[in-house]
Amino acid sequence: MRLIIMGPPASGKGSQGPFIENYYNIPHISTGSMFREEIKKGTKLGKELKAILDKGQFVNDDLTNEMVRSRLLKEDARKGFLLDGYPRTVPQAEYLDNFLSEQGLKIDYAINLYADEDLLIKRVTGRRTCPKCGHIYNIYSDLKPKKMDVCDDCGTSLVKRADDTEEIIKERLVVYHNKTEPIIKYYKDKGLIVDVDGSLTAEGTFLEFLKLIGEKK
Ligand SMILES: [Zn+2]
Repeated sequence: MRLIIMGPPASGKGSQGPFIENYYNIPHISTGSMFREEIKKGTKLGKELKAILDKGQFVNDDLTNEMVRSRLLKEDARKGFLLDGYPRTVPQAEYLDNFLSEQGLKIDYAINLYADEDLLIKRVTGRRTCPKCGHIYNIYSDLKPKKMDVCDDCGTSLVKRADDTEEIIKERLVVYHNKTEPIIKYYKDKGLIVDVDGSLTAEGTFLEFLKLIGEKK
């Protein structure tokens, strides 16, 4: 199974990874994590990436394509993969298609997670984290702490991240939609888009995907 996953901030994209990885026994390949790892290792490429990302710029198509290509050639990705954060541009999508078709392969589905903007905003603005044990809460859902602003596990005062504000998430949503529309159209034209409800629990969203593609769990 060869999958792509897309979704706006807080649509639960990250939490689909483990479900899909386990169910199909394929690697979850996130370009964001690949970049971070390379930077952590301090390689020549890592330094190059850090300079780009520190400036708030995007990693260009050639560099991104090359990294993804060498990752997809690894043994564990031969029987399939879940791509997350890639392709980000139409040239990247075309590159991926060419790379796969050279091997007689193709993308099976492009998962497009969707959810009401109100819900996405609540998921972000309601997020509270325990600075001591790392437990993540949400004051607008059943993940809320028993006592307001206090960690259930260790009693520490919860904190809200400075960029988890309504203005910032709204801005990120606009950027996301502008950037992603051409990619969605690209896969829609190929009949590969599966629109999956991201407002459910992580498992609910995964089961919905299986149902939509006609697979039973
Ligand atoms: Zn805690």
